[in-house]
Amino acid sequence: MTDTEPVVRYERHGAIALVTMNRPQYGNAQNSVMTYALDAAFERAVSDDEVKVVVLAGAGKHFSAGHDIGTPGRDVHVPYDRKAVMWWTHTDKEGADARYAREMEVYLGMCRRWREMPKPSIAMVHGACVAGGLMLAWVCDLIVAAEDAFFADPVVRMGIPGVEYFAHPWVLGPRFAKEALFTGDRFTARRAYEVGMVNRVVPREELQSTAFALAERIAAMPSFGLALAKRAVNQCEDQMGMRPGMDSVFGLHHVAHAHNAETGADSLAGMDARSMKSAGA
Ligand code: ZN
Repeated sequence: MTDTEPVVRYERHGAIALVTMNRPQYGNAQNSVMTYALDAAFERAVSDDEVKVVVLAGAGKHFSAGHDIGTPGRDVHVPYDRKAVMWWTHTDKEGADARYAREMEVYLGMCRRWREMPKPSIAMVHGACVAGGLMLAWVCDLIVAAEDAFFADPVVRMGIPGVEYFAHPWVLGPRFAKEALFTGDRFTARRAYEVGMVNRVVPREELQSTAFALAERIAAMPSFGLALAKRAVNQCEDQMGMRPGMDSVFGLHHVAHAHNAETGADSLAGMDARSMKSAGA
């Protein structure tokens, strides 16, 4: 692994675009460089008529440990070309002004943008899929999980009521969403299957073959039909309140960040990747 390796890899296998997060030394923690590399990869897949299905994977031991809250490549204060929302840059702003601008773009806005890409997407999840990692899996249409996959949104430990893309009640059901948030506990791929969050749970060695076989079946359908079917379900999900729900919770999320910053060390309640892990994340 060298610094010249791309943070996101793109490969085409017939009708399947395989997009792989590639910061394995940091559990594929998502920084802004990775966000925009993912966006470029998804754009490339959408623009390529040969591609029918997008598969999202993580290199190394984990799918994604979440947002980058402490690697040497953390780039919170770096500007970028804004794509998801029409807003000003966060880099010369302070406090909630900066946080709101940044998170609306790189977290909530980007996730919504990816959810709306007109080709079916499959998250191929193994190892950790935690906090911001959940967001990346949830924006995909289908999730195929290895038996070793585990999931958690532990950010209530920071006093924050869930990650920015607040799909929890829709993908977990309200009852289990509360348990997952209140405890911050990890849940297994099998549990995720039971609550309807994932489509398949398979042995680790069958993860890619299962995801690709599913992708191949989908690829036999006409592209426009798939795009319309995807939009149909997404529209209904939004009619079921997901979009306005997320908008309202995004405000609560930012009250929490602001409260942390006002009363303590920083907007993350002084927590970093290490302290979150030692707290059981
Ligand atoms: Zn946040």
